[in-house]
Amino acid sequence: MNDDPKRKAGDAAGRDVLDRDRRHVWHPFTQHGTEGDPIVLTGAKGASLFDADGHEILDLVSSWWTCTHGHSHPKINAALAKQASLFEHVMFAGFTHQPAVDLATKVAGLLPGDLSRVFFSDDGSTSVEVALKIAYQYWINVGEPRRRVLVGFDGGYHGDTLGAMSLGRGSQFFTPFRDLMCKVYVLPYPSTFDGDDAADEREAGALSAFEALLSDRGQTIAALIVEPLLQGAGGMRVCRPSFLQRLVAIARKADVIVIFDEVATGFGRTGTLFAMEQAGVVPDLVCLSKGLTAGYMPLAMTVAREAVFEAFLGETFDRALPHGHSFTANPLACAVGLASLALFEEEKTLKRITRINSRHRAMLTELAARDDVTRPRLLGSILAFDIKAAGGYQSAQSRALRDWYLAHGLNIRPLGQTLYLMPPYCITDAEIARAYAGMIEGLDTVGT
Ligand code: PLP
Repeated sequence: MNDDPKRKAGDAAGRDVLDRDRRHVWHPFTQHGTEGDPIVLTGAKGASLFDADGHEILDLVSSWWTCTHGHSHPKINAALAKQASLFEHVMFAGFTHQPAVDLATKVAGLLPGDLSRVFFSDDGSTSVEVALKIAYQYWINVGEPRRRVLVGFDGGYHGDTLGAMSLGRGSQFFTPFRDLMCKVYVLPYPSTFDGDDAADEREAGALSAFEALLSDRGQTIAALIVEPLLQGAGGMRVCRPSFLQRLVAIARKADVIVIFDEVATGFGRTGTLFAMEQAGVVPDLVCLSKGLTAGYMPLAMTVAREAVFEAFLGETFDRALPHGHSFTANPLACAVGLASLALFEEEKTLKRITRINSRHRAMLTELAARDDVTRPRLLGSILAFDIKAAGGYQSAQSRALRDWYLAHGLNIRPLGQTLYLMPPYCITDAEIARAYAGMIEGLDTVGT
């Protein structure tokens, strides 16, 4: 481990990158007035990132939850190079190609039920925008235009574009944009944890809030969106599969379109390929991105049930979905997505996740015994807990912990008072052990 927090830019080339970054780059979710310099990365392999000095940093948040099989996987690299040698991109209206069709076919086959119609877009936020536009227009197309309001959850996060922000208005991120948002009802979220004895009560409260809303304004509600089993950015807040089942049953009775945002939970994070499998429920629309390309390329899908797609068929363009992006179904990204899905089978990735989960289980027991730890949670490859007495997303303590971890070769980014590990699935036992030891040392050193 490295104790020097200033090791960031390496040699002259690294310092030049940093110098020009300071002058020309505006980073995401960053207050440039107070934030220190970013680390200049020059490589990544497996679960590790390498900075310009050659120091190793374990990527314990899978680079914003995108990286699945590990960085720079030879088989994915080869698939990318092969597709690049054929063609890089073509517009996707009036044209199609094998990588997109193969990927759509493959994902439709992996998803449960008749979630079979794939609309490609670029990232998690755009997949959510597409879902909400489909849900909204669906009701116009079937002659029920009064259904125009969306329902989300307190603490939900669906991305940073306008519609996605509106659906995530129950999160803490978007205060300046409130007046721009569309109307959304926000339900309480029954966040639970290991040893929670009030989970039933909280779920009943959330479900009865939904029922009350439906009995009051059901005819105006177009769709409900939920991150199944795990609210990621909201603080790794988990709910039980039984809650999803009951929620979907209530929505179905009221004819409300159900959207699952599996942008973060998809592709193994929760222990199954998709979180919805654990609840045995099928939404009308599902949003996928991040792990879709193993974290290599921006690509997303909104996958619809066939009946939803059929409502957009007709003789005139006004029934069609007027949406598309320049890079829709980019062939390079689709080829990478296909290679990634093949690896799930070849490398028995779900078994790797089970191994990570059992390591986490032992660690969680140790953590739960600490005085400064509360609300321990475990879901698939994700271990999370709250630190007592910590503050919000950018609290001083949260930043101090993040900086300490980075200085010690660990990319762990607390979400406010929540600390979590979400490693790439290729992480070795030795690397996990290093992660745990460092995580505990950081807690002991920076303190709460
Ligand atoms: N939905 C969920 C559940 C997410 O966690 C995120 C991002 O973290 C998004 C949507 C937005 O995805 P993107 O950042 O790719 O736009």
